[in-house]
Amino acid sequence: MRVALISEHASPLAVLGGEDAGGQNTHVAELAAALAAAGHEVRVYTRRDSVALPVSVRAAEGYEVVHVPAGPAEPVGKDTLLPYMPAFSDWLVRRWGADWTPEVAHAHFWMSGLAALGAGRRAGVPVVLTYHALGTVKRRHQGAADTSPAGRVDYERALGVAVDRVVVQSRDEVRELVAMGVPRSRMTVVPSGVNLETFSPVGPVADRDPARPRVLTVGRLVERKGFQDVIRALPAVPDAECVVVGGPPAGAVDDDPHARRLRAIAASCGVADRVRLVGAAPREEMARWYRSADVLVAAPWYEPFGLTPLEGMACGVPVVGAAVGGIVDTVVDGLTGDLVPPRDPAALGAALRGLLADSDRRFAYATAAVERARDRYSWARTATQLVEVYAAVRRPTRVVA
Ligand code: UDP
Repeated sequence: MRVALISEHASPLAVLGGEDAGGQNTHVAELAAALAAAGHEVRVYTRRDSVALPVSVRAAEGYEVVHVPAGPAEPVGKDTLLPYMPAFSDWLVRRWGADWTPEVAHAHFWMSGLAALGAGRRAGVPVVLTYHALGTVKRRHQGAADTSPAGRVDYERALGVAVDRVVVQSRDEVRELVAMGVPRSRMTVVPSGVNLETFSPVGPVADRDPARPRVLTVGRLVERKGFQDVIRALPAVPDAECVVVGGPPAGAVDDDPHARRLRAIAASCGVADRVRLVGAAPREEMARWYRSADVLVAAPWYEPFGLTPLEGMACGVPVVGAAVGGIVDTVVDGLTGDLVPPRDPAALGAALRGLLADSDRRFAYATAAVERARDRYSWARTATQLVEVYAAVRRPTRVVA
């Protein structure tokens, strides 16, 4: 099948860890690779955010990345990209008419949904949408700090009714969309996958002090990831070090305002010597960080899906997770990890302390976590389920006698 993946701000080729570069980039890269490996023809359309980028690049994994000229050829925060979506859409229509017409367009994030729907309607291409994050949830948690464009929630609701199919990634997302007014019958649940070759228990391990338990936490350095709560939990977890992977590259961490806030919190909690902010790690180094951990913590305020718990599980690491969003589906409480309430350093500290003191339970969680990741979350499985969705919305091809 010819599949277009639209991911306006999140390029599969981006360096991850920065403010707008995380799970969606990984998801789109892995999905494109899995579809290509299954024999489909895949083009990923993402905004051209640098003059150095050629229009089209062939990724080693067998798909093509097309850099769409929409807006300035420089980095632009995702919350200010909305005005460029009509140009994105127009460009797609021209390309799809002239060159290569996809049988289905799968949009990632609501703004991509707008660009894809505008193009799909004109070019006769059905559109599938994965939101990855919802404006209602963001507004609830971030309030006035939410910088999303004013009409986001209305656009998201309208898209849910207008696209050919909505792909949701967790039970929590189903609930949120139903509450917004998107009919359940328009949705198919397909959780994200995890790359089981990259993320496995066996392989190189990052350096660590064998005498000191390691608590690892991973993600973009933004407030809602809850790193501040992990640091506040640390006084209750004797001796453990907390390693935070993500944010700007290692050399630039000290200049990052959020990193500075985290350091100040660590100092005020008396744990500055036990917190390491290592900065962004390239995707190919992530597994060695996970393998070096005794426990992975994912303590976000909210989380549409949450790839890092799944990556940790696939590497055989028990997870202590906040009971929010997709984490409630991936982490089975008492079987592959522990779930705690979000924004609750006391509960997090107690869970970490208990788990670090119990190597039998860690071993049992780790074993069950690897099994669960392998059985339920391979990319091949996710891609197969998505291809079924694509096939169901594909328009019949006209046969010329
Ligand atoms: N990641 C990475 N390097 C970093 C930090 C994160 O490669 O320094 C990757 C991580 O392995 C995961 C993704 O970025 O694949 C984060 O996805 P998640 O769903 O946890 O969070 P999001 O960024 O979508 O909020």
